[in-house]
Amino acid sequence: MPNTPLTILLAAPRGFCAGVDRAIQIVEVALERFGPPVYVRHEIVHNRFVVQSLEAKGAVFVDELTQVPDGVPVVFSAHGVPKAVPAEAERRGLFYLDATCPLVSKVHREAERHHVEGRQVILIGHAGHPEVIGTMGQLPAGAVLLVETVEDVARVAVADPDNLAFATQTTLSVDETAGILAALQERFPAIAGPRKEDICYATTNRQQAVKAIAPQVDALLVLGAPNSSNSKRLVEVAKGAGCTRAQLVQRAADIDWSALADVRRLGITAGASAPEVLVEEVIEAARARFDVTVEQVRTATEDVVFKLPKALTDAPTPSQGGVANA
Ligand code: SF4
Repeated sequence: MPNTPLTILLAAPRGFCAGVDRAIQIVEVALERFGPPVYVRHEIVHNRFVVQSLEAKGAVFVDELTQVPDGVPVVFSAHGVPKAVPAEAERRGLFYLDATCPLVSKVHREAERHHVEGRQVILIGHAGHPEVIGTMGQLPAGAVLLVETVEDVARVAVADPDNLAFATQTTLSVDETAGILAALQERFPAIAGPRKEDICYATTNRQQAVKAIAPQVDALLVLGAPNSSNSKRLVEVAKGAGCTRAQLVQRAADIDWSALADVRRLGITAGASAPEVLVEEVIEAARARFDVTVEQVRTATEDVVFKLPKALTDAPTPSQGGVANA
């Protein structure tokens, strides 16, 4: 088998986006500046490998703010949080760092603006995803209506069809969302919203790169977590673009290589929360079984970088008086 040729088509861009990079850096810099423990509400990004690496450095992941003791810093995840969360942190006098991706925060501010201007907001997204919970939680309960499918659009009951706006989750399928949006605009021609949707550059670019390689490969692996929205969408996009044998894998150890024995061209990509080391691990595992040639297929170049929050860079370190409060 090691003599069997295998060409790997590596999608680019893949893996970490600017929002994930920033969120992980916030935890790492907080650990350096303040020392462990640094608490993190929810997985900072949806990747077990990332979470475990940060835990090894002293981060403590919890589900709710009630699990955070007084006097320690707490970070909110990249997906964003309902307004009630920072409000509660302030009430308790906690020092908190908000790692919400700036592109998610932008959606929050837009939803608020529409609400202030009297429009009911229809959010296209997946129920229960932390980003959707965070975006809906920017406005009073009931002010945001969620639609997940074209069928939902037909059913949604609005207060005034002439006073609506839409927003979207940032990690949706571009093509699927276009269909839902078209249905919304057909039913509510006066609906306001962004020029296209709120799907972020990283999600769009990763989907485009997958579309470019999917028709050229026998099978395709997406490195990503089962709860990572953008990773799951990459599998769907690959299937939609002609690669029926697309699957999500968390890391090399999860791959059933016997099921890939007949594959001569293998596509690989990674969701926005999956570190490159996991891609390298898969290529190494393939090299142990095949005579591997790697070709990178780049469809876009990314140079987006987000600044760290001032609350982190300006905060006094413990030797300067601690972090007892912001
Ligand atoms: Fe931000 Fe997009 Fe990355 Fe989400 S996937 S963290 S919205 S850049």
